[in-house]
Parts: sequence; structure tokens; C-alpha cells
Amino acid sequence: MSGEPESPVAVVDDERFDEHHERSGRHPERPERLAAARAGLYGTLDRARCQQVEARDARPAELEAVHGADYLAQLRNALDGSFGHLDADTFYSPGSQEATWLAAGASAELSQRLMAGEAKRGVALLRPPGHHAEPGHAMGFCMLNNVAIAAQAALAAGAERVAVVDWDVHHGNGTQHAFYADPRVLFISLHQYPFYPGTGAADETGRGAGEGYTANVALPAGQGVETYAHAFRTIVLPLLDQLGPDLLLVSAGFDAHAYDPLANMELDADSYRAMASSLLDHVDRAGHGRIAFMLEGGYDLGALQQSVAGVASALKGERLELPDDACGPAGQQAVERTRRALAGKWQLGDGA
Ligand SMILES: [Zn+2]
Repeated sequence: MSGEPESPVAVVDDERFDEHHERSGRHPERPERLAAARAGLYGTLDRARCQQVEARDARPAELEAVHGADYLAQLRNALDGSFGHLDADTFYSPGSQEATWLAAGASAELSQRLMAGEAKRGVALLRPPGHHAEPGHAMGFCMLNNVAIAAQAALAAGAERVAVVDWDVHHGNGTQHAFYADPRVLFISLHQYPFYPGTGAADETGRGAGEGYTANVALPAGQGVETYAHAFRTIVLPLLDQLGPDLLLVSAGFDAHAYDPLANMELDADSYRAMASSLLDHVDRAGHGRIAFMLEGGYDLGALQQSVAGVASALKGERLELPDDACGPAGQQAVERTRRALAGKWQLGDGA
């Protein structure tokens, strides 16, 4: 894309997200993560090129497009201004209700701005994260499913098809279940498997009208960027090119980084730069250019900063090609299982 000026980037970043924190300060999903992500973003992308998107409360209709009304009422009551836990992993603090509703509302707002043509690219530095939040319950540090709310907001704003690429190292169970029977939203997840949360096998491909619109690349531990490159060329990019979504949302967790303390993959900052570059190439090929990167996990602060900087470099126009697909047999077999599970529906790469 050399020679073309890169688009400005709409950025969600709000210090009220920092008021969501576990009491001890020792939980890995902590406010310092956003400081690291900000350093990575603004250290790379000129702030003057960023349009700040102020976080706002999610509207009831935006939330109810994903979550049950009973759950929303229960959650609001549970986040009562004290410290506590909704389950073993999912904590709350006095600022959590505000932060959670703002993160969800900012996600919808970002999606609406991209659909309205106010910007083409978006970055949302969000806490709490969202992709484990199920329609009816909180789970895995997540309470409201930010990316699913953003996808529904795009549909409400006129998108006919939306795709979510989830490269967080954990399976995005909540997002999958929100759209499992819905062909308007293609969900593609690349994740360590078997691993938390236990879902995301290659044969989970959707249900009813949504059959074939869920793609799970379930990877054994220890995979590097070559395996991800193979999965992108064989599964992710062919699916996106054939579907032609009007908006691409990325559940951008950075916990597949080699330094991450919670998982066992071998990516580095350039891996994220290359994956982001290939998704930017896709939306540019499609003609509309609309893409948003929404923060999910990533628990090593240095790795998170560098990986966000990698994505920011790609957004700045410093794109990086994915490396050759020189992965080992375990990675090849995992990608082949996904290809076979979807082969009746889509023309996917031959795995060569
Ligand atoms: Zn994760």
C-alpha cells in the first residue's frame, strides 16, 4: 500500500476503564494492561492521526441484542459498588458497573462510526474484556460481550454481513454462542486447544441457518507464527474473501505471545503486525476498508505493549507479510481438521 496515505484511526480509550480492578491488585487482568496498550499505540501512531471516541453507556437495545434482559438486570444488581466475584475468575470493584457499561457502549459506538463512514479503522482499548461473556452469564474476566455488541450494532446500522476474527489464545465461546445460528455474522477463532474455556473444537461449525458460519482453528500448544500464517492462508483469508463482510471486527487478545504467563503459544510482536497487515489487506481488497481491533486478553505487560505497537505499525502503513507456512505436522493437522469441517460450504485452501 506504499504511496497511499493511511486512514485516520478512531480510538476508544477511557480512564474510567481503570476503575475496574480486583481488590488485591494481583489479578492478571489489571489496569496496568491498558497503560501498556496505550504506550504501544501512541508510541507508534501519531495521536494527531487518532480520532478519540468518547466511551458512552451502552443502550438497552444494544445490550439486549446479545444478552438476556434477566442477565442484564442481575448483572447490574450484582455490580453493587463493592468488591466481589461473579465466579472464581471474574471479579468486580466499585467502578466495575460504570466501566463495563462504558466498554460495551464504546464498542457499539465505534462500530456505528465505522458504518457511518466517519473513520475506516478503529482501535478499542477496552477493559473489562468481553469474548468469554455468554448471552446469559459472566465468565472468564468478561461480563458484557463487547465484540458481539459491536457486531450487532453494525447490523442495526445497515451492515448485511459482519465477520469477527478472534486471535486471542482462548476460544471466544461467548461470541460463538451469540451468533451460532446466525449467518449474518461469521465467527473465526484461532486458539490453543484443548485449553480454557474448553469449547472451540474444529467440528463446531454453527447450527441451522448459521451452519458453516463458525470456524474454529483449534491449535495444539507451542505453535508459532508459521502455523498462524498457514491458518490465515488456508482458512481465514479465503473465508473472508468469499463472504465479503461489510465490517471486520478483530477480538484482539495478545495472550498467544510467547511471554504470556497464561498460555503456551510462541507469537511475537511482528506476528501480530503481520496478522493485522493481512486483515488490512483483506478489507482494502474488499473496497470498504472497515476494520476495528478490540482488546481482549494479553497479560505480559511488555509483550502487550509491543504487540499493540505491531498492530499500530500495520495501521500506520508499515505492513508486514505473513511468513511462509513452514509449520510442523501438528499445526498442519489442526488446520486440516478445520478445512475439512468447512469444505462442504466454502472453497478453502488445499493446505499445500
Ligand atoms: Zn485470552
